[in-house]
Amino acid sequence: MHEFSVANHLLELCLKNARENSATTISRVTIKIGKLSGVEPHFLQNAFDVLKDKTIAQAAVLDIIHQDVVIHCIDCVKDFTLKENEFSCPECSGVNINVIDGEEMFLMTMELG
Ligand SMILES: [Zn+2]
Repeated sequence: MHEFSVANHLLELCLKNARENSATTISRVTIKIGKLSGVEPHFLQNAFDVLKDKTIAQAAVLDIIHQDVVIHCIDCVKDFTLKENEFSCPECSGVNINVIDGEEMFLMTMELG
């Protein structure tokens, strides 16, 4: 399952950060998941909860921000948040657009103990 490898990667990143900061526990992890990343927050949450067991992150709360897709229309020179995964400008229907948010997964913040 895709979410398990993502959760595993996320957990390793958290543990590495914690080690570098000499932390003994991780209490909270906040991440942002773009809707285009293909990661389902619900599955990622479950996978993280399974994997974090018996690590210093076992009590960590995972907060997931599900980021909408944000595009910039080059013709309108405006940014739009897309409600659907349709890749055209809501205003001019043009496809001369750049995706500026909602593609990736980011670790935002961690609270260490
Ligand atoms: Zn436009």
